Amino acid sequence: MHPVINHMVQLQELTLIRDEQLHAKRTEHLEQLNTSISEMTNKLPANMRTQFEKLQKRDPIAVAPISDSNCSVCGMKLATSLVQMISSKKEMHACPSCARILFVDDSAPRRVGQRTRRHGPRKVGIARFSSEVLMIPDLSATNAEEAIQELAEKMENEGFVLHADKMIEAALRREALCSTAVEDELAFPHVRSVEGGGLTLALGTSKKGFHFHDERGLTRIVCFIVIPTAASAFYLKLLAGLTKSFLKENNRSALLKETDPVKMWKTLCRVTRTTVK
Ligand SMILES: [Zn+2]
Repeated sequence: MHPVINHMVQLQELTLIRDEQLHAKRTEHLEQLNTSISEMTNKLPANMRTQFEKLQKRDPIAVAPISDSNCSVCGMKLATSLVQMISSKKEMHACPSCARILFVDDSAPRRVGQRTRRHGPRKVGIARFSSEVLMIPDLSATNAEEAIQELAEKMENEGFVLHADKMIEAALRREALCSTAVEDELAFPHVRSVEGGGLTLALGTSKKGFHFHDERGLTRIVCFIVIPTAASAFYLKLLAGLTKSFLKENNRSALLKETDPVKMWKTLCRVTRTTVK
């Protein structure tokens, strides 16, 4: 990746983490995040800094990966010559439609295209993002890395994503920036910029619980989420909905009680019916 783009991608990730924290009304990492964000912003070349800040005033996503020759955010089909220039990584180019700065990331994990069913009822609620085959009752994990690995491999084995290994790496890099474990026995590890399909969630439970992050209590419910760049804003809504459901102790215990993936899935659908739209 072009070094300046790489810098902007990392900076953007920090601003998205800050949005997550603000959304969840969590303040303990805000000061450190703000410091890192201003330090990284100051290191950008002046012209890029102006452009980046102007784009972020409009929307948190200022830098967007190309997916199948399209801008991953606005969906604009890009001319082959433009894709080639961006792939050469020598110069930076903006999307002709939405003006976001484009990049190619060959090393990113990828979502396998949505499996479309022509028949059957339209999916609603959590069923738009997950499935009974993505439920793991009683994870064998005893730490964050093992939990992420189990859930990422589940997604790959069930044919939702390619390259579980790259997802695990990316999710752990994200954890290193700021842990996704929260109160109420929850953790929301995730990987952004997984293009090629929709936002996807795999869920694992652990009755015993384990320390996802040293500073937190035991984690018992792990929501592992892959997020296409265009769904970054929606992800915040999903996060809020899931948190609201699991804030209720009876919803958590209903889920933790299940030992069968199909029953666990039905319970997840039930407890998120009014919170995940
Ligand atoms: Zn665009």
